[in-house]
Amino acid sequence: MKIAFIGLGNMGAPMALNLLKAGHALNVFDLNAQAVQSLVAAGASAATSPKAASTDAELVITMLPAAAHVKAVLTGEEGILAGIAKNVTIVDSSTIDPASVKAFAELANQNGNTFVDAPVSGGTGGAAAGTLTFMVGGSAQVYEQVKPVLTSMGKNIVHCGDTSTGQVAKICNNLVLGITMAGVSEAMALGVALGIDPKVLGGIINTSTGRCWSSDTYNPFPGVIETAPSTRGYTGGFGTDLMLKDLGLATDAAKLARQPVYLGALAQQLYQTMSTKGAGKLDFSAVIKLYRNDGDA
Ligand code: NAD
Repeated sequence: MKIAFIGLGNMGAPMALNLLKAGHALNVFDLNAQAVQSLVAAGASAATSPKAASTDAELVITMLPAAAHVKAVLTGEEGILAGIAKNVTIVDSSTIDPASVKAFAELANQNGNTFVDAPVSGGTGGAAAGTLTFMVGGSAQVYEQVKPVLTSMGKNIVHCGDTSTGQVAKICNNLVLGITMAGVSEAMALGVALGIDPKVLGGIINTSTGRCWSSDTYNPFPGVIETAPSTRGYTGGFGTDLMLKDLGLATDAAKLARQPVYLGALAQQLYQTMSTKGAGKLDFSAVIKLYRNDGDA
């Protein structure tokens, strides 16, 4: 298939590589020329704009930081909607708010196209391994249409319901994640302050009722899990600023739904503090630094 892929960051680049490996022809675009070059070296063609990338595409995929970037790439003068052929589907895998998805779907519709929300979970490791979970919002028909392509980048391709329900699933999952990471950080910091070895405590939690992804895969205490970002100086994971963005999406959506999110709002303030202190680019598990002052965590 001829696919336009726009947004070649930590997630987009390895996802695009997996599409190339699966035999698809890719037209790629990113503001970062270096990111484009590494995909061209792997066999993709470089486009000069989202419009140029989309002109002869049979499917368009975007993987961008936030809704403002999706809007610019979609509706700008050199945007996707200015170049795309009628009836071609646009799959957006960025994590953005459900209300923006509905607005973008409406714009795409007026242009003769379908806009599908398909955010992912699984992190940069899952993107590289092609094992992401895709949460797809759209009609059953468009889900069946995009599923074979998404299968080249992920192993669970879930139809969540109508347009924007993929984002609903994603922001609810990340609401849990932001809260559990703060909870595990609090418990690990307390345990170590009270004198227990962090590896022993991590092991107990991971075989007890406190076990969760934040404790057994991404434990925030350095050295407890060898492959976790905490063990490599909180680098190469899911940035604190992205978690802060996702908790903002959850609390904003909750406001619209008049639904309380007590713990989510508190977690949002913790990641906000990290960001204000200049740690926005560190992996979000660095939130444990708020609980420790010995400088090494
Ligand atoms: P990133 O910041 O690494 O990459 C974003 C890319 O978009 C960058 O290469 C940037 O140059 C490009 N970009 C920005 N504006 C652009 C524009 N106008 N035109 C073209 N390119 C533009 O972000 P990421 O980590 O790849 O995350 C992308 C999305 O996926 C986010 O919404 C994030 O919340 C979500 N997500 C990330 C992870 C993760 O572990 N990193 C996991 C799941 C979901």
